[in-house]
Amino acid sequence: MRAQIRRSINNLYTVENDEGKVYQCRIKGKTLKIDKYEYNPIAVGDYVEIEPYSENEALVLSRLPRKSTFTRWNVKLERNQVMSANMDQVAIVASADTPPFRPRFIDRAIACAHGAEILLVLNKCDFLVSEEEADRWYLYRDLGFKTVAVSATTGENMEKLIPLLKGKTTAFVGQSGVGKSTLVNRILNPDVMQRTNEVCEKYQRGRHTTNHALLLESGDIRIIDTPGVREILVPYEDESLVSEAFPEFSHYDCAYPHCIHLNEPGCGVIKAVKEGEIDSDRYTSYLYIIASLIERAPIWTRNKFRKNKQ
Ligand code: GDP
Ligand code: ZN
Repeated sequence: MRAQIRRSINNLYTVENDEGKVYQCRIKGKTLKIDKYEYNPIAVGDYVEIEPYSENEALVLSRLPRKSTFTRWNVKLERNQVMSANMDQVAIVASADTPPFRPRFIDRAIACAHGAEILLVLNKCDFLVSEEEADRWYLYRDLGFKTVAVSATTGENMEKLIPLLKGKTTAFVGQSGVGKSTLVNRILNPDVMQRTNEVCEKYQRGRHTTNHALLLESGDIRIIDTPGVREILVPYEDESLVSEAFPEFSHYDCAYPHCIHLNEPGCGVIKAVKEGEIDSDRYTSYLYIIASLIERAPIWTRNKFRKNKQ
């Protein structure tokens, strides 16, 4: 029987099958075959095959193929950690101020998403931003990203955000303090109190906070809320995948087919940066990401080695 992961906490999963029936699950035999190099074999949003063994308990037998993932590098565990799966889009929530606007964070978060559209949400737009920050923000729009600036407290531009969420599953990610919880609660409004009570009953969970990922829905808006994080680092993966987060690079040709635009001769991207056609701050973001992957390579190799020995 197919079911979707709604909540995942300490290897205990709350899933809902296609008929809307909820089960509490563990993984059969404790581990799944697929979890070789991953920290968590199953994330919120994953579809799994389950085998019920009581009215509301079941075992997870396998994970079904994913159409998209949002994965970060977990520094403590030195492993890739999938934070959500199978969403149509990832809403990266940033704030205009408190905490300060951080385009590097946004660039890294974009690179953590694969197979999903990106929606950039600038919250706390009731604060003023500097001209330089505004330019950097509008650059995303000019590069073709969907962007919307809102205020979760005043409600400004919520009417622009809501239609972008309808009929879709959206994973919300962001640095703690940017106002993600306030925003998510406001989206699930106006019946937020009733909603949280429902969640409480159905998933045995209290007030809507975000210390672990959770799939919520209201009408045709489905949200995977992920815990606020201090930092987001791109997962360890092939460097060439990072370029997907920098669509502006794709307009330029490089002499080498597998160019990663670091210092290769005949690199069209480096030339475009020098000529001012590619924003140099975005390119700097890219270089930082590539550098972090190269730096991490020995750890990754060590982990693989450790796993293989077991
Ligand atoms: P989270 O850590 O991202 O979930 O952030 P919270 O939703 O807990 O919000 C952090 C703080 O920012 C709280 O004090 C909120 O009241 C405040 N906040 C949230 N949204 C806005 C906004 O649009 N404007 C302003 N000025 N403050 C906001
Ligand atoms: Zn290149």
